[in-house]
Amino acid sequence: MPGVYISYPFCAQKCTYCNFASGVFPREMEAHYLDALAREIAGHAWEWTPNTVYLGGGTPSNLAPDALRRLLDLIPGRPWAEATLEAAPGTLTPEIARAWADAGINRVSLGVQSFVERELRRTGRMHTARIVADEIAVLHEAGIGNVNLDLIAGLSAQTAESWRESLDWVERLAPQHVSVYMLEIDEDSRLGKEMLLGGVRYGALDAPSEEATADFYEFAVERLAGLGIARYEISNFARPGFESLHNLKYWQLAPYAGFGADAHSFNGSTRHQNPESIEDYLSGAGQVADVPHQADERLFIGLRLSEGVRLEPAEWQRFEEPIHRFLDQGLVEADGATLRLTNRGVLLSNEVFQEFCTE
Ligand code: SF4
Repeated sequence: MPGVYISYPFCAQKCTYCNFASGVFPREMEAHYLDALAREIAGHAWEWTPNTVYLGGGTPSNLAPDALRRLLDLIPGRPWAEATLEAAPGTLTPEIARAWADAGINRVSLGVQSFVERELRRTGRMHTARIVADEIAVLHEAGIGNVNLDLIAGLSAQTAESWRESLDWVERLAPQHVSVYMLEIDEDSRLGKEMLLGGVRYGALDAPSEEATADFYEFAVERLAGLGIARYEISNFARPGFESLHNLKYWQLAPYAGFGADAHSFNGSTRHQNPESIEDYLSGAGQVADVPHQADERLFIGLRLSEGVRLEPAEWQRFEEPIHRFLDQGLVEADGATLRLTNRGVLLSNEVFQEFCTE
């Protein structure tokens, strides 16, 4: 079943590590953007009925509830099997949570990143662990019981002890789904610039090493598994039955339609990307040519999944040399026709993927 992605690239503040095409923009720009987004969705020729919707950003939880409702009313298929809203902790009220649920939202992904205030302040975020706990309770009261918590391994000032503290909070709050991202500091983010040019404002000097970040990630894999929250994709962990139906479409190459700035679409044979910046999206500039689907994508995208990917006999032959090299190095394991990453392979996944990416 296909899915729908809606991009809302507006944020209350720009996080110090972030280099997405999102951030703080003038208020009037948001009104123009919402008009253009509604026109794009309303003008879409639906060849199928989606069963998942995902509102990402940016910070779509800042979208006024009536504006959210108007956008979702344009999408067929309600009630969707899964309708996720990405949310930044700190502004949720019972009224807003009820409005989300009434609009069809049944899953919320909270951008917690850390439960440790020292780390959060370095990123520019103002919430606390207590605020996250209270907001999860508010979501549950509104009938939204399916909650994801995003965590980042490798934040400035993070230590093995503080990382354990964040995972203690995960245990206490018992979410259905957790995403753990290993921070790769982008040179164009404020934190990345500080790393290159020097300075003490964003904590570049206290950033954990790559090795420490990998250790934090591996610790999380074990700790979450002990809580019954198993890894099913490199960065994603869920209790049984709570894997993200929408995000699985990306890794299983199911079709999806994306709306808004920088949104991507895939119709099963062609990939389409909307202009990246809000300005280009509004003016129609910065169009990106559609790209035909490559058969090899199935391999390196499917390898992200813990279940691995089933190779055809011709693919085993074609990739025989790198597969044997990775088997010898302990980066992949084979089970019949299925190839999957080992724990070590997950940490070196970019090296593995490059070999299967022939374009
Ligand atoms: S990390 Fe998320 S909330 Fe922070 S600036 Fe980037 S898109 Fe916005």
